[in-house]
Amino acid sequence: MDWVCKCPHYQGALNPDDSVVLVAENAGKRILMGLHPEPGVYSMFTSRDVPISPGSRWRFRCPLCHADLQSELSLRTLPAST
Ligand SMILES: [Zn+2]
Repeated sequence: MDWVCKCPHYQGALNPDDSVVLVAENAGKRILMGLHPEPGVYSMFTSRDVPISPGSRWRFRCPLCHADLQSELSLRTLPAST
């Protein structure tokens, strides 16, 4: 591993291996989710067998300090695709 993804609040490393591990929350479910670090690559794994519905919105928290990692950019409404 030659790169480190850090929590913007705690500065702890979020990539214990070649994936970025975050706490993901949706509709009362809370799981660990490992995301591929390369932008545009959407492969991921979860800590439990929880279905991920297409189009569902998940909130992400730091697994170290539990800070909400939602950015202001994610709150913007995306333009409709054409
Ligand atoms: Zn943190």
